[in-house]
Amino acid sequence: MSKTIIGLSTDELRALVEQAGEPAYRGNQLAEWIYRREAHTFEEMTNLPLGLRSQLAREYEIGRSRILSVQHGRDTTTKLLLAMSDGARVETVGLPYAGHFSCCVSTQVGCPVGCIFCATGMSGYTRNLTAGEIVEQVLTVQETVRSRQLPAGSHTDRIDHVTFMGMGEPLLNQAATMKAIQLLKNELGIAMRHLTLSTVGFVPGILKLAGEKTQITLAISLHAPNDRLRRKLIPRAIKFSVTEILDACREFVRQTGRRVTLEYCLLNGINDGSREAHELAGVVDGLNCHVNLIPYNAASGLTLHSPPREQIRTFRSILESAGIPVTQRLQRGAGIDAACGQLRNRTI
Ligand code: SF4
Repeated sequence: MSKTIIGLSTDELRALVEQAGEPAYRGNQLAEWIYRREAHTFEEMTNLPLGLRSQLAREYEIGRSRILSVQHGRDTTTKLLLAMSDGARVETVGLPYAGHFSCCVSTQVGCPVGCIFCATGMSGYTRNLTAGEIVEQVLTVQETVRSRQLPAGSHTDRIDHVTFMGMGEPLLNQAATMKAIQLLKNELGIAMRHLTLSTVGFVPGILKLAGEKTQITLAISLHAPNDRLRRKLIPRAIKFSVTEILDACREFVRQTGRRVTLEYCLLNGINDGSREAHELAGVVDGLNCHVNLIPYNAASGLTLHSPPREQIRTFRSILESAGIPVTQRLQRGAGIDAACGQLRNRTI
Protein backbone atom coordinates (compact mmCIF):
# COMPACT_ATOMS: atom_id res chain seq x y z
CA MET A 1 0.00 0.00 0.00
CA SER A 2 1.60 3.30 -1.02
CA LYS A 3 1.64 6.28 1.30
CA THR A 4 -1.38 8.54 1.26
CA ILE A 5 -1.49 12.32 1.33
CA ILE A 6 -4.88 12.74 3.00
CA GLY A 7 -4.22 12.53 6.70
CA LEU A 8 -1.22 14.86 6.65
CA SER A 9 -1.54 18.30 8.19
CA THR A 10 -0.39 21.47 6.45
CA ASP A 11 2.78 21.46 8.56
CA GLU A 12 3.50 17.86 7.55
CA LEU A 13 2.83 18.71 3.89
CA ARG A 14 5.20 21.67 4.13
CA ALA A 15 7.92 19.37 5.46
CA LEU A 16 7.16 16.83 2.74
CA VAL A 17 7.59 19.28 -0.15
CA GLU A 18 10.73 20.72 1.40
CA GLN A 19 12.22 17.24 1.41
CA ALA A 20 11.40 17.15 -2.30
CA GLY A 21 13.46 20.32 -2.78
CA GLU A 22 10.49 22.71 -3.09
CA PRO A 23 9.68 25.79 -1.00
CA ALA A 24 7.48 25.12 2.04
CA TYR A 25 4.55 27.21 0.76
CA ARG A 26 3.90 24.48 -1.82
CA GLY A 27 2.72 22.42 1.16
CA ASN A 28 -0.01 24.99 1.82
CA GLN A 29 -1.07 24.75 -1.82
CA LEU A 30 -1.16 20.98 -1.53
CA ALA A 31 -3.37 21.22 1.58
CA GLU A 32 -5.66 23.62 -0.25
CA TRP A 33 -6.09 21.15 -3.10
CA ILE A 34 -6.68 18.16 -0.87
CA TYR A 35 -8.91 19.50 1.85
CA ARG A 36 -10.67 22.51 0.36
CA ARG A 37 -10.74 21.80 -3.37
CA GLU A 38 -11.25 18.03 -2.91
CA ALA A 39 -8.70 17.00 -5.56
CA HIS A 40 -8.67 13.36 -6.61
CA THR A 41 -5.42 13.47 -8.61
CA PHE A 42 -2.11 15.31 -8.54
CA GLU A 43 -2.65 16.38 -12.17
CA GLU A 44 -5.49 18.63 -11.05
CA MET A 45 -3.11 20.68 -8.92
CA THR A 46 -2.22 23.03 -11.72
CA ASN A 47 -0.50 25.67 -9.61
CA LEU A 48 2.12 23.12 -8.51
CA PRO A 49 5.18 22.61 -10.75
CA LEU A 50 4.83 19.67 -13.11
CA GLY A 51 7.99 18.05 -11.70
CA LEU A 52 6.60 18.11 -8.16
CA ARG A 53 3.24 16.71 -9.27
CA SER A 54 5.01 13.85 -11.09
CA GLN A 55 7.25 13.11 -8.13
CA LEU A 56 4.30 13.08 -5.73
CA ALA A 57 2.33 10.81 -8.04
CA ARG A 58 5.23 8.34 -8.12
CA GLU A 59 5.57 8.19 -4.34
CA TYR A 60 2.08 8.83 -3.00
CA GLU A 61 -1.56 8.33 -3.64
CA ILE A 62 -4.08 10.98 -2.67
CA GLY A 63 -5.98 8.44 -0.58
CA ARG A 64 -9.52 8.92 -1.89
CA SER A 65 -11.87 6.01 -1.33
CA ARG A 66 -13.97 4.29 -3.98
CA ILE A 67 -17.73 4.69 -3.72
CA LEU A 68 -19.30 1.24 -3.96
CA SER A 69 -22.88 2.30 -3.41
CA VAL A 70 -24.95 5.39 -2.68
CA GLN A 71 -28.37 5.28 -1.06
CA HIS A 72 -30.52 8.37 -0.85
CA GLY A 73 -33.25 8.47 1.77
CA ARG A 74 -36.54 10.26 1.27
CA ASP A 75 -35.48 12.71 4.00
CA THR A 76 -32.25 13.81 2.17
CA THR A 77 -30.06 11.47 4.23
CA THR A 78 -27.37 9.88 2.06
CA LYS A 79 -25.54 6.69 2.99
CA LEU A 80 -22.33 5.66 1.24
CA LEU A 81 -20.54 2.33 1.20
CA LEU A 82 -16.87 3.11 0.63
CA ALA A 83 -13.89 0.90 -0.22
CA MET A 84 -10.56 1.99 1.23
CA SER A 85 -7.33 1.41 -0.69
CA ASP A 86 -6.89 -2.11 0.75
CA GLY A 87 -10.52 -2.98 -0.07
CA ALA A 88 -11.77 -2.53 3.52
CA ARG A 89 -15.37 -1.34 3.47
CA VAL A 90 -17.03 1.21 5.69
CA GLU A 91 -20.31 3.04 5.72
CA THR A 92 -20.68 6.76 6.25
CA VAL A 93 -23.72 8.98 6.30
CA GLY A 94 -24.44 12.55 5.20
CA LEU A 95 -27.25 14.43 6.91
CA PRO A 96 -28.01 17.73 5.20
CA TYR A 97 -30.25 19.91 7.33
CA ALA A 98 -31.61 23.36 6.65
CA GLY A 99 -28.79 25.64 7.75
CA HIS A 100 -26.16 23.02 8.38
CA PHE A 101 -24.70 19.83 7.07
CA SER A 102 -23.62 16.90 9.22
CA CYS A 103 -21.60 13.76 8.52
CA CYS A 104 -21.51 10.62 10.64
CA VAL A 105 -18.13 8.92 10.17
CA SER A 106 -16.83 5.46 10.95
CA THR A 107 -13.59 5.04 12.89
CA GLN A 108 -13.10 1.28 12.51
CA VAL A 109 -13.88 -1.39 9.95
CA GLY A 110 -16.57 -3.23 11.90
CA CYS A 111 -16.52 -2.95 15.68
CA PRO A 112 -15.12 -5.16 18.45
CA VAL A 113 -17.59 -3.98 21.11
CA GLY A 114 -20.62 -5.98 19.94
CA CYS A 115 -23.58 -4.10 21.43
CA ILE A 116 -26.58 -6.40 21.08
CA PHE A 117 -28.76 -3.73 19.42
CA CYS A 118 -26.20 -2.67 16.81
CA ALA A 119 -25.94 -3.99 13.28
CA THR A 120 -22.26 -3.03 13.09
CA GLY A 121 -21.49 -5.07 16.19
CA MET A 122 -22.87 -8.12 14.39
CA SER A 123 -20.34 -7.78 11.59
CA GLY A 124 -17.24 -8.32 13.74
CA TYR A 125 -14.07 -6.24 13.63
CA THR A 126 -11.44 -6.01 10.89
CA ARG A 127 -9.12 -3.07 11.59
CA ASN A 128 -8.77 0.52 12.71
CA LEU A 129 -9.13 3.31 10.17
CA THR A 130 -6.35 5.86 9.77
CA ALA A 131 -6.92 9.56 10.42
CA GLY A 132 -6.83 10.12 6.66
CA GLU A 133 -9.48 7.47 6.07
CA ILE A 134 -11.73 9.11 8.66
CA VAL A 135 -11.36 12.60 7.18
CA GLU A 136 -11.73 11.27 3.65
CA GLN A 137 -15.27 10.12 4.46
CA VAL A 138 -16.21 13.75 5.14
CA LEU A 139 -14.82 14.88 1.77
CA THR A 140 -16.60 12.12 -0.11
CA VAL A 141 -19.95 12.68 1.60
CA GLN A 142 -19.65 16.40 0.92
CA GLU A 143 -19.01 15.88 -2.78
CA THR A 144 -21.70 13.24 -3.15
CA VAL A 145 -24.45 15.21 -1.44
CA ARG A 146 -23.48 18.33 -3.36
CA SER A 147 -23.88 16.42 -6.61
CA ARG A 148 -27.49 15.61 -5.64
CA GLN A 149 -28.34 19.26 -6.17
CA LEU A 150 -30.84 19.41 -3.34
CA PRO A 151 -33.07 22.49 -3.20
CA ALA A 152 -31.24 25.73 -2.36
CA GLY A 153 -31.15 26.40 1.39
CA SER A 154 -31.67 22.73 2.33
CA HIS A 155 -28.11 22.55 3.67
CA THR A 156 -24.81 24.40 3.70
CA ASP A 157 -22.35 23.70 0.90
CA ARG A 158 -19.72 22.28 3.22
CA ILE A 159 -19.98 19.86 6.11
CA ASP A 160 -19.89 21.82 9.34
CA HIS A 161 -20.75 19.13 11.91
CA VAL A 162 -19.15 15.70 12.27
CA THR A 163 -20.24 12.92 14.59
CA PHE A 164 -17.95 9.99 15.35
CA MET A 165 -20.91 7.63 15.61
CA GLY A 166 -20.59 5.37 12.59
CA MET A 167 -18.96 1.95 12.59
CA GLY A 168 -16.50 1.40 15.43
CA GLU A 169 -15.60 2.62 18.90
CA PRO A 170 -13.52 5.81 18.48
CA LEU A 171 -11.71 5.48 21.81
CA LEU A 172 -10.38 2.07 20.77
CA ASN A 173 -8.73 3.95 17.89
CA GLN A 174 -7.94 7.07 19.84
CA ALA A 175 -4.70 8.21 18.19
CA ALA A 176 -6.22 8.23 14.70
CA THR A 177 -9.45 9.74 15.98
CA MET A 178 -7.60 12.57 17.75
CA LYS A 179 -5.55 13.28 14.63
CA ALA A 180 -8.75 13.30 12.53
CA ILE A 181 -10.27 15.80 14.98
CA GLN A 182 -7.26 18.10 14.52
CA LEU A 183 -7.46 17.78 10.72
CA LEU A 184 -11.20 18.49 10.66
CA LYS A 185 -10.61 21.57 12.78
CA ASN A 186 -7.45 22.93 11.18
CA GLU A 187 -7.75 21.81 7.56
CA LEU A 188 -11.52 21.72 7.01
CA GLY A 189 -12.29 24.55 9.41
CA ILE A 190 -14.95 22.68 11.41
CA ALA A 191 -15.37 24.09 14.92
CA MET A 192 -14.35 21.72 17.72
CA ARG A 193 -17.74 22.24 19.33
CA HIS A 194 -19.36 20.88 16.20
CA LEU A 195 -17.51 17.58 16.57
CA THR A 196 -19.24 14.89 18.61
CA LEU A 197 -17.41 11.78 19.77
CA SER A 198 -19.59 8.91 20.90
CA THR A 199 -18.10 6.18 23.09
CA VAL A 200 -19.41 3.24 25.08
CA GLY A 201 -17.29 4.56 27.92
CA PHE A 202 -13.60 3.69 27.80
CA VAL A 203 -12.55 5.52 30.92
CA PRO A 204 -8.83 6.07 30.13
CA GLY A 205 -9.81 7.61 26.78
CA ILE A 206 -12.36 9.92 28.40
CA LEU A 207 -9.80 11.02 30.98
CA LYS A 208 -7.29 11.71 28.21
CA LEU A 209 -9.83 13.90 26.40
CA ALA A 210 -10.46 15.65 29.70
CA GLY A 211 -6.74 16.12 30.42
CA GLU A 212 -6.22 17.67 27.00
CA LYS A 213 -9.25 19.94 27.59
CA THR A 214 -10.66 18.83 24.25
CA GLN A 215 -13.59 21.09 23.39
CA ILE A 216 -15.56 18.46 21.51
CA THR A 217 -19.01 17.24 22.50
CA LEU A 218 -18.65 13.98 24.38
CA ALA A 219 -21.50 11.51 24.05
CA ILE A 220 -21.57 8.40 26.22
CA SER A 221 -23.58 5.42 24.98
CA LEU A 222 -24.86 4.54 28.43
CA HIS A 223 -28.08 2.66 27.59
CA ALA A 224 -28.51 1.28 31.14
CA PRO A 225 -28.43 2.75 34.65
CA ASN A 226 -26.64 -0.21 36.26
CA ASP A 227 -23.88 -2.68 35.49
CA ARG A 228 -26.09 -5.77 35.46
CA LEU A 229 -28.29 -4.47 32.66
CA ARG A 230 -25.44 -2.79 30.83
CA ARG A 231 -23.51 -6.07 30.73
CA LYS A 232 -26.42 -7.62 28.84
CA LEU A 233 -26.55 -4.81 26.27
CA ILE A 234 -22.83 -4.18 25.79
CA PRO A 235 -21.24 -7.52 26.73
CA ARG A 236 -17.68 -6.58 25.79
CA ALA A 237 -17.62 -3.18 27.50
CA ILE A 238 -17.95 -4.47 31.04
CA LYS A 239 -14.43 -3.44 32.03
CA PHE A 240 -15.68 -0.12 33.39
CA SER A 241 -18.65 0.25 35.71
CA VAL A 242 -21.40 2.84 35.29
CA THR A 243 -19.99 4.61 38.36
CA GLU A 244 -16.47 4.76 36.88
CA ILE A 245 -17.79 6.03 33.55
CA LEU A 246 -19.91 8.75 35.15
CA ASP A 247 -16.98 9.77 37.37
CA ALA A 248 -14.85 10.13 34.22
CA CYS A 249 -17.63 12.27 32.73
CA ARG A 250 -17.57 14.49 35.82
CA GLU A 251 -13.85 14.94 35.29
CA PHE A 252 -14.43 15.79 31.60
CA VAL A 253 -16.99 18.42 32.59
CA ARG A 254 -14.65 19.81 35.25
CA GLN A 255 -11.69 20.11 32.85
CA THR A 256 -13.50 21.31 29.75
CA GLY A 257 -16.61 23.07 31.00
CA ARG A 258 -18.55 21.09 28.39
CA ARG A 259 -21.85 19.38 29.15
CA VAL A 260 -21.88 15.64 28.44
CA THR A 261 -24.53 13.87 26.40
CA LEU A 262 -25.75 10.49 27.65
CA GLU A 263 -27.16 8.38 24.85
CA TYR A 264 -29.89 5.97 25.89
CA CYS A 265 -31.22 3.55 23.28
CA LEU A 266 -34.73 2.58 24.39
CA LEU A 267 -35.43 -1.13 23.93
CA ASN A 268 -38.92 -2.38 24.57
CA GLY A 269 -39.17 -4.46 27.73
CA ILE A 270 -35.42 -4.33 28.38
CA ASN A 271 -34.29 -0.91 29.62
CA ASP A 272 -37.38 1.27 29.13
CA GLY A 273 -39.25 0.78 32.41
CA SER A 274 -40.12 3.39 35.02
CA ARG A 275 -37.70 1.66 37.40
CA GLU A 276 -34.78 2.18 35.00
CA ALA A 277 -35.82 5.79 34.45
CA HIS A 278 -35.80 6.52 38.20
CA GLU A 279 -32.50 4.68 38.61
CA LEU A 280 -30.97 6.65 35.72
CA ALA A 281 -32.13 9.92 37.24
CA GLY A 282 -30.44 8.87 40.49
CA VAL A 283 -27.04 7.89 39.04
CA VAL A 284 -26.64 11.03 36.89
CA ASP A 285 -27.71 13.37 39.69
CA GLY A 286 -25.32 16.32 39.89
CA LEU A 287 -23.65 15.60 36.53
CA ASN A 288 -23.82 18.42 33.98
CA CYS A 289 -25.43 16.33 31.26
CA HIS A 290 -28.42 15.88 29.09
CA VAL A 291 -29.97 12.56 28.18
CA ASN A 292 -30.63 11.82 24.54
CA LEU A 293 -33.30 9.16 24.19
CA ILE A 294 -33.02 7.05 21.04
CA PRO A 295 -36.00 4.82 20.35
CA TYR A 296 -34.46 1.67 18.87
CA ASN A 297 -34.16 1.51 15.10
CA ALA A 298 -34.96 -1.97 13.85
CA ALA A 299 -31.92 -3.58 12.21
CA SER A 300 -32.45 -6.62 10.07
CA GLY A 301 -31.45 -9.82 11.81
CA LEU A 302 -32.22 -8.49 15.30
CA THR A 303 -35.39 -9.24 17.26
CA LEU A 304 -35.49 -6.07 19.34
CA HIS A 305 -38.19 -3.42 19.30
CA SER A 306 -38.75 0.22 20.10
CA PRO A 307 -41.06 0.86 23.09
CA PRO A 308 -44.61 2.14 22.48
CA ARG A 309 -44.89 5.94 22.37
CA GLU A 310 -46.60 6.10 25.75
CA GLN A 311 -43.71 4.25 27.37
CA ILE A 312 -41.19 6.65 25.83
CA ARG A 313 -43.24 9.59 27.12
CA THR A 314 -43.32 8.14 30.65
CA PHE A 315 -39.56 7.46 30.63
CA ARG A 316 -38.91 10.99 29.47
CA SER A 317 -41.21 12.64 31.98
CA ILE A 318 -39.59 10.77 34.91
CA LEU A 319 -36.19 12.18 33.90
CA GLU A 320 -37.58 15.66 33.33
CA SER A 321 -39.35 15.63 36.69
CA ALA A 322 -35.95 14.95 38.25
CA GLY A 323 -34.61 18.09 36.54
CA ILE A 324 -32.61 16.28 33.86
CA PRO A 325 -32.66 17.87 30.40
CA VAL A 326 -33.88 15.33 27.85
CA THR A 327 -33.90 15.29 24.07
CA GLN A 328 -35.25 12.64 21.79
CA ARG A 329 -33.30 11.88 18.68
CA LEU A 330 -35.14 12.37 15.44
CA GLN A 331 -35.05 9.25 13.37
CA ARG A 332 -33.46 10.11 10.08
CA GLY A 333 -32.30 7.72 7.43
CA ALA A 334 -34.17 4.71 8.81
CA GLY A 335 -35.48 3.86 5.35
CA ILE A 336 -31.93 3.24 4.12
CA ASP A 337 -30.54 1.66 7.33
CA ALA A 338 -28.53 4.78 8.02
CA ALA A 339 -29.96 5.53 11.42
CA CYS A 340 -28.17 4.95 14.70
CA GLY A 341 -27.15 1.33 15.17
CA GLN A 342 -28.02 0.38 11.62
CA LEU A 343 -24.69 0.88 9.90
CA ARG A 344 -23.20 -2.36 8.76
CA ASN A 345 -21.04 -3.61 5.99
CA ARG A 346 -23.61 -5.88 4.41
CA THR A 347 -21.10 -7.40 2.06
CA ILE A 348 -18.93 -8.98 4.78
S1 SF4 B 1 -23.11 0.69 19.02
FE1 SF4 B 1 -21.08 1.52 18.56
S2 SF4 B 1 -19.74 0.50 20.06
FE2 SF4 B 1 -21.63 -0.71 20.00
S3 SF4 B 1 -21.20 -2.34 18.48
FE3 SF4 B 1 -22.21 -0.61 17.42
S4 SF4 B 1 -20.53 0.61 16.56
FE4 SF4 B 1 -19.66 -0.73 18.18
